[in-house]
Amino acid sequence: MVIISNLSALENVLNSIGRKSVGYVPTMGALHEGHLSLIQLAKKQSDFVIVTIYVNPTQFNDAKDFNKYPNTLEADIRFLEQERVDALYVPTFQDVYPHGTDSLPYFDIDNLDLILEGKYRPGHFQGVCSVLHRFITLIKPAKLYLGEKDFQQVKVVDTLLKNYLLELNVDLVVGSTVRNSNGLALSSRNKNLSIQGIEKASLIYHYVQNHIKLSQFKNEDSRQIESGFKEFLLSNGFDSVDYITIASPNTLEPVSDFTSPSRIFIAIFLEGVRLIDNFDLL
Ligand code: AMP
Repeated sequence: MVIISNLSALENVLNSIGRKSVGYVPTMGALHEGHLSLIQLAKKQSDFVIVTIYVNPTQFNDAKDFNKYPNTLEADIRFLEQERVDALYVPTFQDVYPHGTDSLPYFDIDNLDLILEGKYRPGHFQGVCSVLHRFITLIKPAKLYLGEKDFQQVKVVDTLLKNYLLELNVDLVVGSTVRNSNGLALSSRNKNLSIQGIEKASLIYHYVQNHIKLSQFKNEDSRQIESGFKEFLLSNGFDSVDYITIASPNTLEPVSDFTSPSRIFIAIFLEGVRLIDNFDLL
């Protein structure tokens, strides 16, 4: 695996691979089996797999969250080497933001950045768009791999590709969410939970499977189901709930029942750690 640590090295590597099809997996590091599933998909579908590790400051609306984001670069490198990834790019701030971050362009992504995550993390998706627009323009991958774990991010990036990067013809491939044996979605932030916290966090999965996914709920009022879920989590020791919303997977707008395609989107705090998840309800 070639480790690329600046822009000119990236350009050299990309020039040297000729017409190989490039599969690109963007990450913020602290790699786990969820990232691995995307890498394995990319390995199957592409001639040359490149991973980026970059904890992008502009997508953090909370400095504390940014400062405590786990950094396990050495272990990540070993992990990627084992998986025979072709290249890892760990850019500098300068590579990503050559003109700084004070006057970044605004990305019009059809207001998808203003709801759900966007409402609770103002500017988050603009930051995601800034960094991915930069990486995609530099790498020009044939395929881009993202996880369904961040469902709204997938929608945002799909719109970014259509509205701003159409000429690059990037194929967006979405990998399903990888969970631990207890149903908890793997996440780099889980590294900040205690063992008891990891155990408790799986209540999210179990509540959805054992209560919400049951067909008799389909015609019930979504808002009532959401508040029942919220009460359940708060009475089981979760710190707070940003949102629990049953919404359309197409528009991400709330739906009143789930007789038509719908997903439940969840953002909660446990032990001061913000966890997000989402589930298909049909
Ligand atoms: P992150 O490093 O958290 O920015 O995630 C990098 C990519 O991995 C994103 O496309 C995520 O959606 C994806 N990802 C994160 N967690 C999981 C998971 N548990 N299962 C599948 N994909 C994931």
